[in-house]
Amino acid sequence: MICVSIGRTRHKMITLEHRALADRGAKLVELRLDWLSRLPDLGRLIDNRPTPVIITCRRREDGGRWRGTEEQRMTILRSAIVSGVDYVDIEEDIAKSVPRYGDTKRIISYHNFEETPPDIEQIHARMCKLDADIIKIVTLANSPGDAAKMLEISKRSDIPTIGFCMGEMGLFSRILCGRFGSPITYATFSRDRELAPGQLSFEEMRDIFRYEEITEDTQIFGVIGDPIGHSLSPLVHNFAFQAAGIDAVYLPLRIPQDTLAKSLDDLDSIGMRGFSVTIPHKQAAADYSQVSSESVRAIGAANTLIRSEVNDWHSENTDYDAALASVLIGINKENPSEASLMGQKVMLLGAGGAARAVALAMVRSGALVTIAGRTHKRAIALADEISCQHCSWENRGAGEPDVLINCTPVGMHPNVDDTPYAEHWLTENMVVFDTVYNPETTLLIKDARAKGCRTVSGIEMFVRQAAQQFEMFTGQPGPLDQMRMTVRRAISPLGDLP
Ligand code: NAP
Repeated sequence: MICVSIGRTRHKMITLEHRALADRGAKLVELRLDWLSRLPDLGRLIDNRPTPVIITCRRREDGGRWRGTEEQRMTILRSAIVSGVDYVDIEEDIAKSVPRYGDTKRIISYHNFEETPPDIEQIHARMCKLDADIIKIVTLANSPGDAAKMLEISKRSDIPTIGFCMGEMGLFSRILCGRFGSPITYATFSRDRELAPGQLSFEEMRDIFRYEEITEDTQIFGVIGDPIGHSLSPLVHNFAFQAAGIDAVYLPLRIPQDTLAKSLDDLDSIGMRGFSVTIPHKQAAADYSQVSSESVRAIGAANTLIRSEVNDWHSENTDYDAALASVLIGINKENPSEASLMGQKVMLLGAGGAARAVALAMVRSGALVTIAGRTHKRAIALADEISCQHCSWENRGAGEPDVLINCTPVGMHPNVDDTPYAEHWLTENMVVFDTVYNPETTLLIKDARAKGCRTVSGIEMFVRQAAQQFEMFTGQPGPLDQMRMTVRRAISPLGDLP
């Protein structure tokens, strides 16, 4: 069950939000009395409550805001129990001083905002002796492995245990904890009302990750990267699973640089079936896999990992095909399969990971590629590796290419007034492909359209690489149109679609 936490300074706001949450379909709400600016008036909050509640009054040292005395706090918790609230949250150290009474269920809790201590299993064992209906054990994840450990504790416990991790590295465990036996996960009223690090909103938990529908049979996928918070892949894949009626969930997993192999080993117990891979792990993912596709070997980087029937990891690079398909649309929108890059002059801006996949796809299709990179040494190295030309960043406007491809982040939100290629260098016969997809219409694309060029936005590449991954994950074709709409809605939430 999803429990939505409300923390407000005024009683009136708590009751208003409680009612609103009930209207939005919430089945359980946590009232955080420690947030109130005055002493709590329990009757006002719990008489005629629209949903069952957990009463919590958290001390500062446990991550709360309580400013009264400990005696006042215990009196409030005891009164809540006497009033017959549904659940009361009692920290481990006061469990014996706040006795059981009536039907109120006891959640005995432990929080650690700094780490997942090495003796977490002993802490859990200690808590099992405190007459709990539910144990709540929530720690900060300093690695994805910490969160995996907490899920295991829930799974093995005889007493129902809410076990997950806070923080970005633990976020996935908030979504998966029900599958591992947690009776409750926690969410917020809205995304900007985080009461603990890494919390998702009620709607995100219910509608994007479909928490209530995750069972032991649900297949688990995810995107790994760092940073990962702004990735659109969870939206795109989860909505695609939903539309196709596939029992699967797709999670964001923050994995710090240089820890990919250890993190994936630590996540093994979760049984994830596949990953999308983004910065900075594409190269490490290629190295981690036991079997890699020809394009991964040629590029030296993977953006997809799939677990095979015999449990080894296969890697693929779907950026390669997606970039090629996007350029071919630019050349011949009606019949991309008839478009050809043979002998076409391509100017490629950037020499990073995306440029690598795009340049190789262009060269192998017979294009005459020149790479211009801000760091010239990097452009030279890439050009040498895949046997094409290079030029200095300052000279990028000198030639008159048939196809211009931007593989730098220049023009990306929030720097939407930047462009990597001056307007007066553009000519009307060019095909201009900007791999940046947020915004969809970058300044480069705007300028190119104004000049009469054929243009392709980064959304085309993004949805194509995602659709190919979807097919590898599920065996079904990826829903391109739906994925495109999901991305457009996400980057243009006010419906300002081109
Ligand atoms: P990356 O590995 O970090 O490479 C970025 C490249 O851009 C480097 O060559 C870098 O130059 C250059 N660069 C960065 N800032 C610049 C600036 N202000 N002026 C000139 N050059 C600059 O990143 P990546 O993975 O290749 O991704 C690059 C972009 O491609 C992303 O921002 C994203 O928008 C786009 N992308 C799109 C898709 C898609 O599906 N549509 C997929 C992947 C990437 P230095 O070497 O000098 O740092």
